[in-house]
Amino acid sequence: MGSLWEEGIRITRFPQLEGDTDTDVLIIGGGMAGVLTAFMLKSSGIDYVLCEAEVLGNGVTKNTTAKLTSQHGLLYDKLINEFGKKKAWLYLKANEDAPMSAPRMCAQLEQRGTHLGLSLPRLKIY
Ligand SMILES: Cc1cc2nc3c(=O)[nH]c(=O)nc-3n(C[C@H](O)[C@H](O)[C@H](O)COP(=O)(O)OP(=O)(O)OC[C@H]3O[C@@H](n4cnc5c(N)ncnc54)[C@H](O)[C@@H]3O)c2cc1C
Repeated sequence: MGSLWEEGIRITRFPQLEGDTDTDVLIIGGGMAGVLTAFMLKSSGIDYVLCEAEVLGNGVTKNTTAKLTSQHGLLYDKLINEFGKKKAWLYLKANEDAPMSAPRMCAQLEQRGTHLGLSLPRLKIY
């Protein structure tokens, strides 16, 4: 079974990086994490370059069910045991913030008459 997210979309291609480049932040990997990081850095005016080895969004991201939730099985027990309560709490906070910030980001994009996919060509991606 193919991925729902691939149906009817045109994959944006990016130029290969020729030579060296300078950047404040290097993002390695153009999955959901990398693309959102690039988008947020650009929105904050912070210099970045995103490097993807293969095709953008074609890793694990391609198969996500795209639900936003802070409860992932018994993960917190593992996080507390391995990293302590403070780091487990930071993970919880980041996951609790996502359902609030994602609609805000979508609304901002909608106001600008675009969406994340259409913003991609304007990001510094190689
Ligand atoms: C079936 C399924 C359902 C899921 N459902 C949900 C859900 O409902 N909600 C949720 O929040 N999460 C869900 N997830 C998890 C979520 O999809 C992943 O956590 C997320 O997509 C991971 O994104 P990523 O950017 O970290 O990794 P990836 O999408 O894997 O991206 C990594 C990218 O890095 C590139 N790369 C790797 N090495 C290099 C290198 N050396 N140089 C350059 N590029 C490199 C790869 O080519 C790839 O494109 C699900 C996952 C699966 C499989």
